Amino acid sequence: MAICPDENDMACYIDGLLPDDEVRQIERHLLDCDRCREIVDVTKKVVVWVKG
Ligand SMILES: [Zn+2]
Repeated sequence: MAICPDENDMACYIDGLLPDDEVRQIERHLLDCDRCREIVDVTKKVVVWVKG
């Protein structure tokens, strides 16, 4: 299995700051990795909550 993206990359991915090719890489990784999918899921909820 591929190495998990680091927290910084994940944060940028969630904020939409990554270039398209890196977004695709992370999305592909998320299909294989329950753990990262959960991190993104939880973090997105927090982001929505923070932004109101
Ligand atoms: Zn992962």
